[in-house]
Amino acid sequence: MKIGIFGGTFDPVHFGHLRSALEVGEACGLERVVLIPAAKPPHKGRGAMAAAADRLRMIELAVAGASGLAVSDMEIRRAGLSYTIDTVRYFQSESPGGEIALIMGVDAFLEIETWKSFREILSIVPVIVMSRPTPRGGRAESDRERVKGVLGGIVSPEAVVETTKGLQAPGFKPVTVQPVTALDISSTRIRELVGAGRSIRYLAPADVVEHIRTKGLYA
Ligand code: ATP
Repeated sequence: MKIGIFGGTFDPVHFGHLRSALEVGEACGLERVVLIPAAKPPHKGRGAMAAAADRLRMIELAVAGASGLAVSDMEIRRAGLSYTIDTVRYFQSESPGGEIALIMGVDAFLEIETWKSFREILSIVPVIVMSRPTPRGGRAESDRERVKGVLGGIVSPEAVVETTKGLQAPGFKPVTVQPVTALDISSTRIRELVGAGRSIRYLAPADVVEHIRTKGLYA
């Protein structure tokens, strides 16, 4: 049993997150991908966020009936700052014998050295980095080089080798760069559109769009 954990602010969740999660799950043979909204992410300086309960509810609506996708409220229940190391340890203790993989975007991986206990994270859990190739291609290759560069900076450049399991650095679990369909959607853009009174239809699941409307979020 292999489970992917995918954290984020999800303010709100959109088709970019969902399609990537589904594709990574299928490509990497994961039983399911669990989306985990952060109570309070350490990296986002932005002030007002939708309430945790709303962000969680929107993911529940988005993954309802989708086999292979799930949601966890563990970071929200824990409250306070959400550190990935704690989340990884929690999921590993919850599924003894099962394998956990940590999923993140390239943007997140490029900042991994700012994360609490990042060396421990890399040593206890395989990482799947989602790369979004542009229609002209090439991006996945340069993303792999960028990810390799980050790993090389942490250990030493010559110590990182490409294996069938992904990029392997001594003492660390493999880091895989997985191409996913590039959908140029961001939560920021959705919030901006709502704020400007414009439609967000087709950027997120209809139930999520409806939740935003009825709760008056981001208006
Ligand atoms: P914001 O615009 O508020 O910064 P976001 O849309 O980037 O939000 P987050 O909740 O910060 O969403 O993202 C969580 C994770 O999802 C990050 O690792 C990010 O790389 C990834 N992600 C965000 N947008 C997309 C997308 N369109 N396709 C694939 N992955 C995405």
